[in-house]
Amino acid sequence: MVSGARDSQVLVIGGGAAGLMCAATAGYRGKTVTVLEGSNRCGKKILMSGGGRCNFTNTGTAPDNFLSRNPHFCKSALARYRPSDFIGLVERHGIAYHEKELGQLFCDESSKQIVKLLLDECDWAGVHIATGIAISSIRFAGDRFEVETAQGIYRAEKLVVATGGLSIPSMGASGLGYQIARQFGHALIDTRAGLVPFTLSGKPLEQYAELAGVALPIAVRVGGTEFRNALLFTHRGLSGPAILQISSYWSLGQAIDIDLLPGRDAGVELIALQQQGHKAELKTVLAEWLPKRLAQLLCTAFFSNKPVNQYKHAELRDIAYALQHWRITPSGTEGYRTAEVTLGGVDTEGVSSSSFESKHQPGLYFIGEVLDVTGHLGGYNFQWAWASGHAAGSAV
Ligand SMILES: Cc1cc2nc3c(=O)[nH]c(=O)nc-3n(C[C@H](O)[C@H](O)[C@H](O)COP(=O)(O)OP(=O)(O)OC[C@H]3O[C@@H](n4cnc5c(N)ncnc54)[C@H](O)[C@@H]3O)c2cc1C
Repeated sequence: MVSGARDSQVLVIGGGAAGLMCAATAGYRGKTVTVLEGSNRCGKKILMSGGGRCNFTNTGTAPDNFLSRNPHFCKSALARYRPSDFIGLVERHGIAYHEKELGQLFCDESSKQIVKLLLDECDWAGVHIATGIAISSIRFAGDRFEVETAQGIYRAEKLVVATGGLSIPSMGASGLGYQIARQFGHALIDTRAGLVPFTLSGKPLEQYAELAGVALPIAVRVGGTEFRNALLFTHRGLSGPAILQISSYWSLGQAIDIDLLPGRDAGVELIALQQQGHKAELKTVLAEWLPKRLAQLLCTAFFSNKPVNQYKHAELRDIAYALQHWRITPSGTEGYRTAEVTLGGVDTEGVSSSSFESKHQPGLYFIGEVLDVTGHLGGYNFQWAWASGHAAGSAV
């Protein structure tokens, strides 16, 4: 890595997805750009993303895939840098990719290829990257920013904050971006872990821990939001894509409502079996619809198990309702230790949605996950990093 460019036109704090995209974009416009990265290498979260294959975008990206106090904020940048733009870049770098499901694009080989793409782009654009930089303070000295670090003072007219969120502290996450925002008069929206597994405690944990490893398709709802995808029982609670998605909409103390048989009308089907004089036991019928271990546990713990033709209609309707509205209250989440994203962050009201420049401090920019914009699971968060990074890189 090149280091030592102490005076530049643009300083980018954070060499992650958004920061590197911004740096390369500004570099190609002829700006002198330095990236200050706190950890020993850039793009650590990209490396661990998508199970090592980086789900780098989603072809169906739309503003309603994002959570923010201001749902309109993300629209401009997303419209100006689209999934097809990043796909074009991936193709120009000769990276093979595939669609897994629901528009999610992954590298065929490794997330390392996406980090290399970004570093190559920065290199070609003449960007200086300094890693292992410990920032102690930042100030605006009249006409430029001064960033004091253990490695010396870096100066620039434009300062881009791309420090990401708080998830996975072992990968370099820090609260510096929020600190800078506060210092320059920005409001913060409370932060919390998103796209994160739920924990259970007490009786529910005792009941379901034995199902660890069991997965099934479900629909899960909180408030008016529903996701359909897989649920995975874990030793500590509930995970899987459907659970990660709904976790971003959940608040402590809320019950989640799970349909274990999405797409079926279990009441109608059970009553039909009963009317046909079906002699099979309930647990045998349920084992055809659900993973066997789950069907057995439900019949032992909640439903009295007997041949289907011996139930009353009302009993079968209650059973069906319980299966399609399984209400459970998580005791919490696994927190930032395993969360994929941080909800909340720098309030977008204080930031321009086209340039990403601060409305409080000219020359200061916020991009990527540090902002109060959080995507669903499925490549949307990287698309936000690329789009916001590209917008700021075009403006600085
Ligand atoms: C396990 C995991 C898997 C994920 N998988 C996907 C996926 O497949 N698809 C998807 O779209 N999203 C995925 N995400 C989310 C995605 O990684 C982030 O939303 C995205 O990286 C945010 O980009 P960013 O540039 O804002 O922040 P980051 O990529 O996190 O970059 C921030 C950078 O700033 C640096 N930094 C932080 N503090 C300081 C400091 N004080 N001084 C200097 N540098 C600092 C960090 O070290 C880091 O390099 C995943 C996240 C995790 C944790």
